[in-house]
Amino acid sequence: MKKENLWLVYNEEDNKKLNEVCSRYKTCLDEGKTERECVALAIDMAEKKGYKELHSALAKGDAVKAGDKLYAVQMNKCVAFFQIGKKPMSEGMRILGAHIDSPRIDVKQKPLYEKDGLVYFDTHYYGGIKKYQWTAIPLAIHGVAVKKDKTTIPVCVGEKEEDPVFVITDLLVHLAGEQMTKKATEVVTGENLDLLIGNRPIEQSEDLEKEEKEALKANILNILSDTYGIEEEDLLSAELEIVPSGKARDLGFDRSMILAYGQDDRICAFTSLFALLDVADTVTDNTLCCLLADKEEIGSVGATGMDSLFFENAVAELVAATEKDSQILVRRALANSKMLSSDVSAGFDPLYASVFEKNNSAFLAKGLTFNKFTGSRGKSNSNDANAEYIAEIRKIMDDAEIMYQFAELGKVDAGGGGTIARFMARYGMNVIDSGVSVMNMHAPYEVSSKADVYEAVRGYTAFLKA
Ligand code: MN
Ligand code: MN
Repeated sequence: MKKENLWLVYNEEDNKKLNEVCSRYKTCLDEGKTERECVALAIDMAEKKGYKELHSALAKGDAVKAGDKLYAVQMNKCVAFFQIGKKPMSEGMRILGAHIDSPRIDVKQKPLYEKDGLVYFDTHYYGGIKKYQWTAIPLAIHGVAVKKDKTTIPVCVGEKEEDPVFVITDLLVHLAGEQMTKKATEVVTGENLDLLIGNRPIEQSEDLEKEEKEALKANILNILSDTYGIEEEDLLSAELEIVPSGKARDLGFDRSMILAYGQDDRICAFTSLFALLDVADTVTDNTLCCLLADKEEIGSVGATGMDSLFFENAVAELVAATEKDSQILVRRALANSKMLSSDVSAGFDPLYASVFEKNNSAFLAKGLTFNKFTGSRGKSNSNDANAEYIAEIRKIMDDAEIMYQFAELGKVDAGGGGTIARFMARYGMNVIDSGVSVMNMHAPYEVSSKADVYEAVRGYTAFLKA
């Protein structure tokens, strides 16, 4: 296994391609800050490469043949792209998978309240966060509100230069004597993660009898109604996500890294999608797939998470369209498939070296990371990839001269985490956890290496072509 630093391996041509891939990646991060935005963006990119929506193509009675490119989307939050190969699907697919939801703070269904001259959105955080990291930084609101007549109103405020931003306040240090003695888990409570959204009352009429009781809240409601056509009750059927404001940035004097929100796991999602779309013009032997899933950060639950039958259903439709309507052929298509289930790995951080076991850690700029297993407390809830499959992956990567590393998340007893791999492994297919390593995972801004982004695209492409 090679161990050099990728920057020492790349030539001028590589560096040129690396910069192209990374600027494309940063644009995707800026445009895809929620799972819905990622799905819309991915579909847009795929349609430009000739992809068509699966169910409408089937409804039209289109015959599905080798070289066709189709996608299935689930509730606007999860999507699977398929490039049909020459071999029957029942002989197995090559699947790249990753998740597109990221830790964030969600607006509650009854969020709006006024207190002591300030207006807030009440919130409920999503995924594993260090709550104190989300205070006192500029935040944006992305999402949708759906009216009873089914009109979907998109909301995105806090990203443009001229937009206002929002904040979760923290206690001034001068009065934080008691707070500073608390454990980090208790410094900021979940219920205190409320978003400050206003401080100005609505204009009052002269008539004191008609005085607005909650004049600040009324002002915000007026603005929501005027700007978006959203009434207070419409917030019941809204999905508003609070995310860090601003764009992905180059990091370091040498611009070798990227600092951005949501790289877990969009760094794997977009690089997987780039790899698939880059082979769109070739008719391949195997059916290729890129699966972008929601809800990984809360356990892959729900209709848009990998625990749902969404993916299996899409495969069943395609097997019926290309071979025949047969349950056993669907089982074979899934069981014979091979998958790189990608999720971020913990990049070794020398400032926190004590939680890592250095010899089995992932390092930035050392290439695509493979984890034989993930999980915690003795591999619990992990997919533990088969040795025979790992040998096959090693050969694919070595033949294509991809730099890769094998890693675990940290020291055995230090903690752990789950991925979507185990949900796919249920079908009996060969799956291995792979991906890109990042530092300060789940923080509002995460750190990655540009070299690893580029190497991931190369590695995924090699897997699809093998
Ligand atoms: Mn992840
Ligand atoms: Mn995560």
